Amino acid sequence: MGFSEVFKRIDQEKIKETVYSTTVEKVESILKKKRWSIEDFPHLVSPAAGHYLEKMAAISRRITFLRFGKVIRLYAPLYVSNSCVNACKYCGFNVNNRFPRITLTVKEVLEEANEIFSHGIGHILLVSGEDRKEVSPEYFEEVVTNLKDRFYAISIEVYPMEEYEYRKLADAGVTGIAVYQETYNPERYKKLHRGPKADFFYRLETPERAAKAGFRELGIGALFGLSDFRVDLTMVAIHARYLMKHYWKSRVAISFPRLRDAEGHFKPFEVVTDRQLAQVIFALRMVLNDVDIVLSTRENPSFRDGMLGLGVTRISAGSKTNPGGYSIHPGALKQFEIADNRSPEEVAEVIERKGLEPVWKDFDRSFLF
Ligand code: SF4
Repeated sequence: MGFSEVFKRIDQEKIKETVYSTTVEKVESILKKKRWSIEDFPHLVSPAAGHYLEKMAAISRRITFLRFGKVIRLYAPLYVSNSCVNACKYCGFNVNNRFPRITLTVKEVLEEANEIFSHGIGHILLVSGEDRKEVSPEYFEEVVTNLKDRFYAISIEVYPMEEYEYRKLADAGVTGIAVYQETYNPERYKKLHRGPKADFFYRLETPERAAKAGFRELGIGALFGLSDFRVDLTMVAIHARYLMKHYWKSRVAISFPRLRDAEGHFKPFEVVTDRQLAQVIFALRMVLNDVDIVLSTRENPSFRDGMLGLGVTRISAGSKTNPGGYSIHPGALKQFEIADNRSPEEVAEVIERKGLEPVWKDFDRSFLF
């Protein structure tokens, strides 16, 4: 049984009821435990648990050090195309937005990658809008074949593919996938998406297809601001636990960006505060001890710095969110505005000042042979 079947049996209204009826007494009794299960999760992300942030931070910090040590891994996204056939209401790359579309040639991608690599970053995330004709699986195969000798990890955040396509990409050198469900609320999802992405369950099953194809990392998540974030994050946690249990050879990473300004100016359903975002990071770490928690440059520098050592294990640095943004087309339309404009070197310095170690490379392909 795949996760879609599990999903259909989950009563999200009941999760919501649990989240909003949790009392401080219930939270206190849960915080006395030594280990936390997925059943505790809705309580830990409840408004009532928001009063216990310092205690949750201390627990999350302890678990993170025990499981990951004092390291923070760095990565950078490389946008290869802003062409997209979907009309997601919240996104600047929406097919209905009129602006010059850019797709980098393979040569241009390599130039951009060189710029990222020159800062020492060894994990690259290839990002594109969802347009199979413009950026085909073969295009990514060619790009990755040319990148794999320099980057120890190459992830893709592109349109969902079939298992056989993922297998070819894994053979070419792709190591991970990032595919965010955006919101786990199917009704809200339907209202926000037009185009192939509107197929909720095909997207939901994507990490499983990638895992079967042999990717060693599965990135999932929700975009905060599309629906009730506490319920969405509980669903992300359930999804992550399912993947960890059934595809234990792959590492699961979770990301939960907050909506920021994009072309089209979509108004978020709710605005998640820094305290609330911190709470969900701590709750995730308490319940899913081994999951990678990722913070991108969508978040502001002071929040990102404050979260170092408290649960987050990977952050992007020096990011550009437009194709060619590093060196070729700096003026191209961005998918969203970033909040942390510091260079990788500056971010690394902050990590070190906090007594942590920035990791530029944590794997070598030779380990596989
Ligand atoms: S969120 Fe992705 S799929 Fe949707 S319009 Fe933007 S780039 Fe396209």
